[in-house]
Amino acid sequence: MSLFLGPMHHFIPGHKDLTGKKEILHVSPSKEVYIPLAAGANTDLEVLVQEGDKVEIGTKLAITRSGFFVPIYSSVSGFYRGLKKRMSASLKPIDHMVIELSDSQNKIQALKPLDYRSASHEECVEQIKQAGIVGLGGAGFPAYIKYQKTEGMECVIINAVECEPYITADYAHTMQNVSRLVLGCEILKKMANVSNVYIAIKKTHPDWIQAVQSHLQSKDGISVRSVPDVYPMGWERVLVREILHKEYDRLPGEAGAIISNASTAMAVADAFEDGDAIYQKTVTVSGDGIKEPHNIVCPVGTPVAELISACQGYTSDSVRLIAGGPMMGKTIVNDQFVVDRATNAITVLKHVEDDEIACLRCGRCSDHCPSGLQPVRISMAVKMGNAEEMEQRGALSCIECGLCTYVCPSHIDVTENVRKAKRIVSLKKKKA
Ligand code: SF4
Ligand code: SF4
Repeated sequence: MSLFLGPMHHFIPGHKDLTGKKEILHVSPSKEVYIPLAAGANTDLEVLVQEGDKVEIGTKLAITRSGFFVPIYSSVSGFYRGLKKRMSASLKPIDHMVIELSDSQNKIQALKPLDYRSASHEECVEQIKQAGIVGLGGAGFPAYIKYQKTEGMECVIINAVECEPYITADYAHTMQNVSRLVLGCEILKKMANVSNVYIAIKKTHPDWIQAVQSHLQSKDGISVRSVPDVYPMGWERVLVREILHKEYDRLPGEAGAIISNASTAMAVADAFEDGDAIYQKTVTVSGDGIKEPHNIVCPVGTPVAELISACQGYTSDSVRLIAGGPMMGKTIVNDQFVVDRATNAITVLKHVEDDEIACLRCGRCSDHCPSGLQPVRISMAVKMGNAEEMEQRGALSCIECGLCTYVCPSHIDVTENVRKAKRIVSLKKKKA
């Protein structure tokens, strides 16, 4: 039985102790930051500054020309030096805005702070839209979209699960300022026009649960829901089932829930309280391939190579660098990409020789797929070049959780094959 249909008791070693309780490092880029000229997958943006312009932390640099409205703000004080093509974490070369740092760093308000208690729903939505807040759980989808239309919503679920191994960025970020997290919850509660906000935290984090609960006295309708330490507990569908005991077809809204990440709630509070856009990120740099794993706070646009240096470098010459966690992240060929607004982790693993053997037909990948797919069948369809079968077998429902690769005794990268099938089916649909 698949995890999606079954009891979902899949424990994966977390390795959270490598970074969770350690001091957070603050890294300032040495010379320049490279801010990706992109909003999620959208690279159609208009640059609002001229080469040579002086910018501060909070200066608006660019806005989207098409698609959802997303502004981009400077993460440092310095001088705009034009565009440069660089490899991004999405594995595509894209334009980046180069800012050369000046000696002194000054922050200006990206927007006027707003009192959510007296503001209208429209004003609240506009505040997070203008702040350029994108979902900080990794997808980079504009956060305001979920709060525009809230009819039929019953609750907000704040996802503080961090179910992927190694990642403790949300833990480190929110534990620095728990009252900010709670303020973010209050704002989102008002914006969603609901009576309840549930903050989902794993049972294995009693200190986090207690810290949040201690700030919830007299906060009507906001509570912590402790959830099991299983993977992929942070997937929206699993969270809705665990907390609301409901299923849905396409979107959590069908079950009356809006789900936002814990760091997104913090960013919302920053936008209302201080008029801040997202100019810095907390990123977990961890894994057995890095000498001194740490959580690092750095400006958006900081090259990953500088985070690696702050962690004393790699443990060997041959490592696997992943943008994100080991289950859902993407393997990147070198450390020249930068921290973006949606970056929450860099995982570095010791390189293991490719010892892939033929499929044993054991069915473990199908047993564990939370989407109820048969990844081995999709993999075979990819090998046969049979796009129709890939589609029929539901490749597009894959959430790229990485479990099929994780459980495969033949060490086959099944997830990569299913990802490939998704790309092929999507292309086929576009052409049709
Ligand atoms: S990566 Fe996709 S196919 Fe593989 S287990 Fe996860 S959801 Fe299923
Ligand atoms: S888990 Fe690996 S070996 Fe087993 S059926 Fe799936 S692809 Fe084949």
